[in-house]
Amino acid sequence: MKKEILRWQVGDITITRVQEIEAPGMRFILPDATVENLGTIPWIGPYVDPAGDALGSVHSLLIESADRCIMVDTCIGNDKDRLPMKAWHKLQNPFLEDLADAGFPVERVDTVVCTHLHVDHVGWNTRWVGDRWVPTFTNARTLVARPEWEHWSAEKDDLTQTILGDSVQPIFDAGLVDLVEVDAEVAEGVRFESTPGHTPGHVAVRISSRGEEAIITGDLVHHPAQFAYPGWEDKADSDPKLADRTRRDFMDRYAGTPTLVIGTHFAGPTAGRLVRDGDAYRLDA
Ligand SMILES: [Zn+2]
Repeated sequence: MKKEILRWQVGDITITRVQEIEAPGMRFILPDATVENLGTIPWIGPYVDPAGDALGSVHSLLIESADRCIMVDTCIGNDKDRLPMKAWHKLQNPFLEDLADAGFPVERVDTVVCTHLHVDHVGWNTRWVGDRWVPTFTNARTLVARPEWEHWSAEKDDLTQTILGDSVQPIFDAGLVDLVEVDAEVAEGVRFESTPGHTPGHVAVRISSRGEEAIITGDLVHHPAQFAYPGWEDKADSDPKLADRTRRDFMDRYAGTPTLVIGTHFAGPTAGRLVRDGDAYRLDA
């Protein structure tokens, strides 16, 4: 099935979603995201499958302005040794072809942003060519928040070292990485917003143009159901208390504003406006 390309206009800036994979079942991250609990959310239809199970998406978001082409997050990647994550092991997806079809051949990307350094956000930083991992986006600077790199590069467990070794270290070795602050300006109208907790140096990405605003969540929230249930445990958070505070602050900050909230793992329409709904929130299309 051909994957749907989604686009949004924010002033003079265009944001495009290019999807790598979409799949039902998010209880490995959100244990409370059962079919039963999801069924209590009247507006959840676009974000669940026909059986009512939570849909998750892995996609990149491309930000285009007059003179820039910025890719936010680089998904899982092909050929990578990702056991014990079987569903992500040695993928063979036509993601780079899909990217080119959407108007983004790899040479065109001038900046890559990783909201954080988890496995599903760094994968296409590299690809397997000949006998080694080589940078995919050779014309791009890759921006990583300094505390994010400092945290993960000090982690010695095998899985982290494998992920950094095949997807991050090669772009450092090629001199393509800039370590930046958690509130860095990426380009005119595009900046990091510090949102720690999911990981220590996690950032959201804020886009502003001609009085219009959008925010790319990164993984501070994984599924829109969390707007209805802000207190749900998120098992992927490295600091659950801080992540909870960041999530609630984010919802409080953007609810009722015209800012377009674009989810990094939201399936279906992927974006909407956050509004207050009783004690919690709702994502309006
Ligand atoms: Zn993720």
